[in-house]
Amino acid sequence: SIRVRFAPSPTGQLHFGGLRTALYNFLFAKSFNGKFLLRIEDTDRERIVPGSIEHIKSGLEWARIKVDEPTVIQSERAELYRKHLATLFGKLNHQNQPHIYRCFCTIDRLMLLRHECKRRSQPYRYDGRCKELSEKQQHEYIQQGLPHVIRFSLPTDDKGIQTYDDLVYGHHEHNPYATEGDFILLKSDGFPTYHLANVVDDHLMNISHVFRGHEWQTSTSKHLLLYKAFNWQPPRYGHLPLLERERGRKLSKRDAENAHNPIEIDYYRQKGYFPNAVLNFTVLCGGGGFKDDDTVIGKTLDEMVSLFDIKLFSRHAAIVDFKKLAVCQRAHFKREYQTSKEGRQNIIEELRQKVLHYYPEKNSTSSMQLQNDYLEKILAMIDFRIVLLDELFTNNLYEYLWKEPELKKDLIHDIQQFKFVIKYTLDNLNQIHFTHDDIKQFIENYRPNKINNKDVFRIWRLVLCGCLQGPPVHEIASFFGPDIICKRFQRALV
Ligand code: GLU
Repeated sequence: SIRVRFAPSPTGQLHFGGLRTALYNFLFAKSFNGKFLLRIEDTDRERIVPGSIEHIKSGLEWARIKVDEPTVIQSERAELYRKHLATLFGKLNHQNQPHIYRCFCTIDRLMLLRHECKRRSQPYRYDGRCKELSEKQQHEYIQQGLPHVIRFSLPTDDKGIQTYDDLVYGHHEHNPYATEGDFILLKSDGFPTYHLANVVDDHLMNISHVFRGHEWQTSTSKHLLLYKAFNWQPPRYGHLPLLERERGRKLSKRDAENAHNPIEIDYYRQKGYFPNAVLNFTVLCGGGGFKDDDTVIGKTLDEMVSLFDIKLFSRHAAIVDFKKLAVCQRAHFKREYQTSKEGRQNIIEELRQKVLHYYPEKNSTSSMQLQNDYLEKILAMIDFRIVLLDELFTNNLYEYLWKEPELKKDLIHDIQQFKFVIKYTLDNLNQIHFTHDDIKQFIENYRPNKINNKDVFRIWRLVLCGCLQGPPVHEIASFFGPDIICKRFQRALV
């Protein structure tokens, strides 16, 4: 049966890279009716950022990426890793070398080694000195209480080459010995390294498939060697293409400082993006698995599961283009508002909360502005021209919805004409019944002094909105109705 996991290290908030890994594992598992698990890889105690686990969990919950079994937390299982590692002591590999050995080298010695490698322009590689220690010597050192780590001894011949069929990249081979020395499995504090804990847990959790970021591809050959040493069946691996901010520029944590488009999911959640919009966008950012962008935009997570096709995975580094997020958001905004009664109510309620937030003073928020039909009329008039409800308050173009606009005298072309139209309108307002067409006709039909209707429309817009852009004037006018129109025209008279 299909079992996958998302295995973040709690080093900060959930960001697009992590969400993408979680989402692809989820899509894959669910498209085969499999299980999706969560494992917290927190054995590197120095890198832990407090609160990350809660952030990651609530981020997944918000996105409706449901975890099927209790979360596995590695720091609670240190004993388990030591126990499994102990079974490898005394076992030999095909080169008659021990699979693992204790290393007592001091930090100073390792530093010197590192310098030496650098001086010779070689990659750093542990020289394997402790592999030669006798049993007796090791026990003496242990008696003396010398700290030590446990290393894996890499095969030095061709058998070290690990080949596998990457679910995304296809045939892949790598010999870790070519680029590095015997790697550490257990640290001197008794905690496992990523490699040991990752392999033991994937085995114990019965993980069948692993999708993870491209940067882990070089670890995979080490993991395969570990599986062989344990005599366990490895899962199948797939590596997801690099995410880039721009061509050739990796999407990184540093980007978190980018004020416009940070990479933390929580930012978009706070802003009011729909989880499904963020999920659509995450897929559009990179990984493939769908026929094209249009297949994904506006779909729910469940629909994405049924449309997902592993044969359509992509190997290309993907550009995270935030313009696409707006497209996804608008699609869901429309969908929620138009097709779900509950979605519509939620949006209206959210808008009401925003009115109260942006206009907390009692007298500027008239009770009318908080009523459902007023808010609904606004949304109908705006007709999904906005991406987020906040724009109705932060964008000057919409200020007139909430308060009387300032009359910008410099936008008036012809003051005589302007005055004339204002006066004429006030004299005749009682003739209009307020529907779009009536107002349209009213403005269109009357051309005092042969003023053309483009100019009349412009004057109406200026008086009602204080600006020259926005929905059609007659829509705005019928939305406001006679009282407010009258008030705004009267103000323009002086
Ligand atoms: N803890 C690793 C990470 O933070 C997990 C890599 C893996 O999935 O094996 O991405």
